[in-house]
Amino acid sequence: MIDPALPYARTLAQRADALTTICVHAGDEPDATGALETPLVMSSAFGFASAREARDAFLGENDAYIYGRWGNPTVEALEAKLAALEGTESACATASGMAAVSGAVLSICESGAHIVAPRSMYAESARLFRERLTRFGITTTFVDAAREGAYREAITPATRLLYVETPSNPTLAVADIADVVALAKERGIATIADNTFATPFAQNPAEHGVDLVVHSMTKAIGGHGDAIAGAICGQRVAVDRARDLVVKGFGGVISPFNAFLVARGVRTFALRQRQACETAADLAAKLAEHPRIERVHHPSLRGHPNRALADRQMHAYGALLSFEVRGDDAIDSGRRVLEAVRVITHAVSLGDVRSLLVHPASTTHSTMPKEARALASIGDGLLRLSVGVESAADLWKDLEQALAR
Ligand code: PLP
Repeated sequence: MIDPALPYARTLAQRADALTTICVHAGDEPDATGALETPLVMSSAFGFASAREARDAFLGENDAYIYGRWGNPTVEALEAKLAALEGTESACATASGMAAVSGAVLSICESGAHIVAPRSMYAESARLFRERLTRFGITTTFVDAAREGAYREAITPATRLLYVETPSNPTLAVADIADVVALAKERGIATIADNTFATPFAQNPAEHGVDLVVHSMTKAIGGHGDAIAGAICGQRVAVDRARDLVVKGFGGVISPFNAFLVARGVRTFALRQRQACETAADLAAKLAEHPRIERVHHPSLRGHPNRALADRQMHAYGALLSFEVRGDDAIDSGRRVLEAVRVITHAVSLGDVRSLLVHPASTTHSTMPKEARALASIGDGLLRLSVGVESAADLWKDLEQALAR
């Protein structure tokens, strides 16, 4: 989807232009007070005008709000923004990204079900598949999602779900979404894509036919590092099934306050991503030339193994990259860079306005067995950089001085 005839900055400007009006206005409803900002409605229950209205509300025959776990206007305004950004019929906000991931999976899989999922993915999602779901009789085969034929080979008669997370965390390998969807449709299997890493700026999995798109809105969608939140997007029937389970049933409801913060963050989402994606490609190119760098992972790089696929599938290359520092002791070389950065912050999470640097092997991916990390190409010296909206020149100066130590 990236037009190779155009300079990347122009493609990014066009993508931002396509989304920014949605970001600012989607989900806004006229308010009786004239308030322009979506009101923050902090109320656990809502009063009824009459016994009849109450009865009809419980029968689903009117739109009256009843109870915060079943619906809230601030949350619904955010959900409308999300659905518009992902181009889906519906969206459901959840308490966290993990509530969205686990809720979406459990809305599809029952005891006895088999899942195919990527080897390289967010570690807590990997743990859900590897340790937690097995307790309920749901098993998973992990595959190299970027290898052609990998999903097909892993399918069994019990397979109910093909799970995709692309680009992968933290190695930025790109899986072919349309290919996985075609296989799933051929076999009558459901698909879920975690689009947190790419964001709806860089990729819309529903465009390629994915059934449910999940997000940690804690990341680039909220964008300010102040609220934990998640989302499930897709066709209304599928989203409602997931909502009924995870929000109503398991109680993974988002606080209206967090929904308000995330919705405020969304208003500048496209502008933030435009800047961050441009800087990420710039830093990736510079790091790739740096004598102290062994390897850089970013789909914008000519040498990236899935670059052509990224061009077909993505609107942008994203604001995350990872790299390995050269040295006899990979962990020690990486640690020195982590401790030397000044503008960049050494912290987990990603998609924030501030740039964040982390060492996955000892932090975000430490719960993954060492062999699983090796199979997923998560080297001991790998550092993951989430590029924020600071000046590209300042970020490069910071990396250069840290690498010079
Ligand atoms: N999916 C991905 C790709 C993530 O990176 C994360 C968190 O880092 C999650 C899901 C879980 O999100 P949350 O921390 O909001 O529960």
